[in-house]
Amino acid sequence: MSGTFVGMPAFPAAARAAVRDTTLRGNLRHATHTIRAKRARAVAELDDWERLRQAGKRIKDHTLRHLDRYLEQLEESVTAAGGVVHWAADADEANRIVAELVRATGETEVVKVKSMATQEIALNEALEAQGIHAYETDLAELIVQLGKDRPSHILVPAIHRNRGEIRDIFTREMGAWGRPAPEGLPDTPADLADAARLHLREKFLRAKVGVSGANFMVAETGTLVVVESEGNGRMCLTLPETLISVVGIEKIVPTWQDLEVFLQTLPRSSTAERMNPYTSMWTGTTDGDGPRVFHLVLLDNGRTDTLADEVGRQALRCIRCSACLNVCPVYERAGGHAYGSVYPGPIGAILSPQLRGTGSEIDASLPYASSLCGACYEVCPVAIDIPEVLVHLRERVVEGGEAVREGSKVRLRPAKGHAAERAAMRAARWALSRPGALRAGQRLASRTRRLHPRTLPGPGRAWSGTRDLPPVPAEPFRDWWQRTRGGKDGAK
Ligand code: SF4
Repeated sequence: MSGTFVGMPAFPAAARAAVRDTTLRGNLRHATHTIRAKRARAVAELDDWERLRQAGKRIKDHTLRHLDRYLEQLEESVTAAGGVVHWAADADEANRIVAELVRATGETEVVKVKSMATQEIALNEALEAQGIHAYETDLAELIVQLGKDRPSHILVPAIHRNRGEIRDIFTREMGAWGRPAPEGLPDTPADLADAARLHLREKFLRAKVGVSGANFMVAETGTLVVVESEGNGRMCLTLPETLISVVGIEKIVPTWQDLEVFLQTLPRSSTAERMNPYTSMWTGTTDGDGPRVFHLVLLDNGRTDTLADEVGRQALRCIRCSACLNVCPVYERAGGHAYGSVYPGPIGAILSPQLRGTGSEIDASLPYASSLCGACYEVCPVAIDIPEVLVHLRERVVEGGEAVREGSKVRLRPAKGHAAERAAMRAARWALSRPGALRAGQRLASRTRRLHPRTLPGPGRAWSGTRDLPPVPAEPFRDWWQRTRGGKDGAK
């Protein structure tokens, strides 16, 4: 099993440890800069990129506004095509449904297509507790699973690993899970991919149950869509007799015509390709072709609560392309694990606190894991205004108080930092609305400037610990204006 994010510290503490890891920073910098440049070139090829982006935004907004209607339509379409639809309100219910479906087949192994929804609900761990082994088949997910690690990127979950580390993981762990790595495995990408292929092939040929997520669900026909680069997903989707797909309810699009937009924007934004090497689509079951039994588990797990928030709901437009991670200066330095969730980076900073609430230390810290530079918004193919949602969620944290751990319990209390911020704002309002007091204060500050501390005391210490305080000028601006232009421009 992979490690889980349970018990992770708040973002500042986790990030502090991560930025000291120079190997991690080197791996991340190299990978994100490479993907970022390739994406920019792929997007620049399209004259109508901005129109596609706005179309994707509109389609998603429309669908979310009428989500109830489209979900019912999807259920009817899937059922008519021979599939069975299940509704899961939360992670526990989804895990229970999947475990029961697997047990009903009599199998104790499943092969998995890379799926963020199943990571979100910790399905592998829930199945393991029931004696069912789940094997990840996406190459990066395999690296994470064999390394007993956690994913750190939406698209490239093992982005924090370099090829030497991957070779060591394969050599050390593969034998315990199935076919061992070849003797003296080199760390060249082709050899590593070959070792993974041989290891996975026997699992594909043996497995009777496949578990997947989906990138999209088309309501009008009940078709599910998975896009991927390796072909391992297609093996999982076609070889097993039973296929169970766990999909978030926001992954729906009304029609095939709507899908067309996302099949252009997703590959360019994620892998910088014009189209994904493998686009698998299936509609229920078909005699003699693919799985004979198909179950669709529709997952809520905080999504309807997110939908109720007028500002925050735009996060549900996300198509998980990861472009926002690759341009984020905070992600590049802190890495994905610091976000304490399967959804790292800017999208994780707004999605996790909405899906899970801001009641925990880690979730209350995530809206602050950003410099608000706006690069994420610029690249987002569905125009999610991530900085707007971050600020909105900060308000929610401040209003709701800050999560503090007391023993094994977490409670909310008004945060000291925020109380100090509120007091500073009140003082500023008082001074700025009294010109005489402001002028006297400025003169006093100028005359005593040599005595000013270089760092702020109290709660301001953290702020000034990483910034230079601006020097106070020897003469206040108003006095300088009066002295040099006094009377001419009427300034007094
Ligand atoms: S928020 Fe936008 S850029 Fe980030 S993963 Fe989602 S769709 Fe991609």
